[in-house]
Amino acid sequence: MTQDVDIHPLVSPWGRFGLYSFFLDAPEPAIVDTGIASSPADGMVPALAELGRDIGEVRWILLTHGHIDHLGGAHALWELTGRRARVVIHEADAHLLRSRRAHVDAYVGVRQRYLHDPDGVDTQTAMAEKVISGEMEPTVSVRGGDTLSLGGGVTVSVHSLRGHTAGSVAYVVDGRGAAFVGDAVQVHGAANGFPGYEDPAAYRTSLEYLRDELRPRELYLGHPYRGADGEPYDVALDADGARRAVRESLDIEARIADAARRALRDGLRETDSPYSPFAPVATELGYTGDPTLEPSPFFTTLHGYREAFDAAG
Ligand SMILES: [Zn+2]
Repeated sequence: MTQDVDIHPLVSPWGRFGLYSFFLDAPEPAIVDTGIASSPADGMVPALAELGRDIGEVRWILLTHGHIDHLGGAHALWELTGRRARVVIHEADAHLLRSRRAHVDAYVGVRQRYLHDPDGVDTQTAMAEKVISGEMEPTVSVRGGDTLSLGGGVTVSVHSLRGHTAGSVAYVVDGRGAAFVGDAVQVHGAANGFPGYEDPAAYRTSLEYLRDELRPRELYLGHPYRGADGEPYDVALDADGARRAVRESLDIEARIADAARRALRDGLRETDSPYSPFAPVATELGYTGDPTLEPSPFFTTLHGYREAFDAAG
């Protein structure tokens, strides 16, 4: 059965980023992803009013993963619904909803090792305080294979797309083939011009799952990611656009993997390069973006290849 659900993108800007959320006009209305602390009041309330709707009607807050630009507004949005909306996140990213400190820990565990910023922890702590509207327990923690009922026979199925983060998921409106994937399809990345994923092998497997199994007829992205030609994708794609985005994401992952494995086999060396110790990878890929600009996808991603290489011995 094709589900009759209108889908409206809601955008809130944050610095260099356009944060996209989506309003699903189901019998129990849902919002996928929340932007940051200010996004619900400043972006969503007026956008829903334009549609003749009230934020208080929202009954589901569906988080595609735990990054701050996707869940920072969750607590504020939940408050605006009179605490009636159910807040949903994959169990592997739930700690990022429970704790601001978890975001700082993630920074210390990976990016800090490469950025060597003496103020990094203070900056991250201050940002988590400002940008995350509140710490909370999820109402529903999900895993791949779960199904949520949005009333009137409308169901949304949850598919694990781990790789970008461990708890990245797609929410799929059943029968319609509309998939909300957050940042699980990175193409060539957003503002930083480099795709970010913590676990390269899982990221690739998730893209192949999208291509071969899920085959969405509509694909909704968390940001206007850039294609191989540098042009940003629309955040709402049809089946052809979805196939192209997934194919380009797989192609660039393969190129990064090749360059990373060569550099790792040759042995990493600390240099004065801002890309150190992965300078040969940047050179081989022709990547000239600033690798230190947060959220530093260059280092997050290459650290993932390094961990896999080290684990393989
Ligand atoms: Zn993300």
